[in-house]
Amino acid sequence: MKKDDTTLKIILYIILFLLFGIIIISCKTESKDYIMTVSGSVQPEEIGRTLEHEHILVDFIGADSTGYFRWNRDEVIEKALPYVLAAKERGVRTFIECTPAYLGRDPYLLKELSEQSGILFITNTGYYGARNNLFIPRSFYDIEAEELAGIWISEFENGIEESGMKPGFIKIAVDPSDTLSPEHRKLITAAGLTHLETGLTIASHTGPDNPAFAQINILKKLGVDPSAFIWVHAQRGTMEGIIRAAKEGTWISLDNVRARPDLEPGEPNSIEWYADKIMELKREGLLHRVLISHDSGWYDPAKPDGGTFNGYTDIFDSLIPVLIEKGMSQQEIDQILTTNPQKAFTIIVRKIITN
Ligand SMILES: [Zn+2]
Repeated sequence: MKKDDTTLKIILYIILFLLFGIIIISCKTESKDYIMTVSGSVQPEEIGRTLEHEHILVDFIGADSTGYFRWNRDEVIEKALPYVLAAKERGVRTFIECTPAYLGRDPYLLKELSEQSGILFITNTGYYGARNNLFIPRSFYDIEAEELAGIWISEFENGIEESGMKPGFIKIAVDPSDTLSPEHRKLITAAGLTHLETGLTIASHTGPDNPAFAQINILKKLGVDPSAFIWVHAQRGTMEGIIRAAKEGTWISLDNVRARPDLEPGEPNSIEWYADKIMELKREGLLHRVLISHDSGWYDPAKPDGGTFNGYTDIFDSLIPVLIEKGMSQQEIDQILTTNPQKAFTIIVRKIITN
């Protein structure tokens, strides 16, 4: 009797030991947050100080005519590298490159630039619908949102073309009109479906309040939490709208921060004007939802030598000194430029939790 008890106990201990082992292993694999760069996946804390919406190259010729043949990568790099390095001198470690496919996206270019600069680059999947769908391929009109999502999910799973490089987020764009067109409803629906499958965050070139909330509502109906959505060009929304969206969890991206000596301080789009918006969001306790960028660059293949290139340093040289003057702490600045991008671009499915 006693011998049987001991054997039973040993067997029980072995089972418990194995069970705990399985639980520990599965917990470890489940909680592995990451961010995807053109050089592979990294831990969120590795991306450091991040510019969350910039461009190296934009080709405005249209979806029917663009392609890699339109630019010489070495020439683009020669032009862009000094600007990227100037941002690096100011502590930038990661660039989120927001040029979508059919508008000049080139992961090979970003990879090379990453190797030469030591900066991490993140590219995207998705289509740019703003400007009346000029940058959307014809194949888009023959397919439903589900199939479109399939194309983007495939880029996430298998890489872009044959490059093996994977997108780190979804970039779409809608026109600023009050109601979304059927095409742009298809874009945000496909983005939502792609998010649910992949965990990629959706950055949508949006502008005013109405198209922002129209998109957020479509996402909600799909079960996607607003924290999966970045309202790009939110500086064109109302303060009331921005605050309402941020309270729901939406990321508020204030873009086009650029020093404009031609503007009076406080005039719309001046550095003061951006600083005031950020300070108001701080007063509302919403700094943890704020992202900022220059939306700057870029090499334009249609122009001689790529045209005028706007740099990526005004946030550091012009905006931050004004924010500090207004009472913002270094910790709060780090939150906007480092912690928030880490959280916003972590690849994780954000579903609405229903009770
Ligand atoms: Zn942009």
